Amino acid sequence: MNNLIRRRPDLYQNAPCFHCSTSVETQDHLWTCHPASHLNRRSRLHDFQSIISLARDSLISTLRKKWKSQSLHKHTVITQIYQLQCWELTSLPDALTSVDLLKGIFPNELYSSVHEIIGSHEPTVNLLFKTVYKLQLRLYQFIWLRRCYDFSEWEISQNITTRMKTTKPRRITFAAQDQITPAVHRSQHVTSLHGS
Ligand SMILES: [Zn+2]
Repeated sequence: MNNLIRRRPDLYQNAPCFHCSTSVETQDHLWTCHPASHLNRRSRLHDFQSIISLARDSLISTLRKKWKSQSLHKHTVITQIYQLQCWELTSLPDALTSVDLLKGIFPNELYSSVHEIIGSHEPTVNLLFKTVYKLQLRLYQFIWLRRCYDFSEWEISQNITTRMKTTKPRRITFAAQDQITPAVHRSQHVTSLHGS
C-alpha cells in the first residue's frame, strides 16, 4: 500500500485501509483487518485466527502420531507447544507472534519442542516449514485473494480505472490538488499485488 501511495498519490493519496477505513493497510494489518460491525464486512482477523489455530492443531496432531508413547513428558511437551505465543497476535514483549509465523519466522521454543519429539534436525525443520507453507497457502487462498477481489470492487466504486492506473501520473501542484475530481478525491486507499 505504501508503494502505491508513493507511486500514485494522485489516486491513493492519504488512503486508509479500504476494508475498515480506520487503519493504514500495512502488511500486518492486511491479514488482521477487523471492520466495525456496522460495515457488514468479513473480519479477516477471525479468518486469520482460524487458519493459525488450524496450523497449530494440525502440527500437534502430526506430533501425537509420531510420538507413540503416552508419557507425562509427552503431554508436557505438547502442552508447551500449544501455549506458545507464536499462535497468538498479542504477545509478551519481544515474543514472536502469529504474524511472524506467517512470514516463516518461528521461535526457538517451537523448534526445541518439536525436535524433542521428532528426534533429529532435518525432519524437524521439514515439518515446521511444511506447517508454515500450508499456513501461507491458506492465508493466500482465504484472505489475500478475497482482499484482491474486494479491492477491485472498491476501485470500481471510486471510479479508479485501469487506464487511470496505467497512464503516467500528472505532477500534483498545490493548485492542481484543489481541482482533483471528487471521485479521485474520495480515494480511500490501496495495496499492490506484490505487497504494501
Ligand atoms: Zn483495515
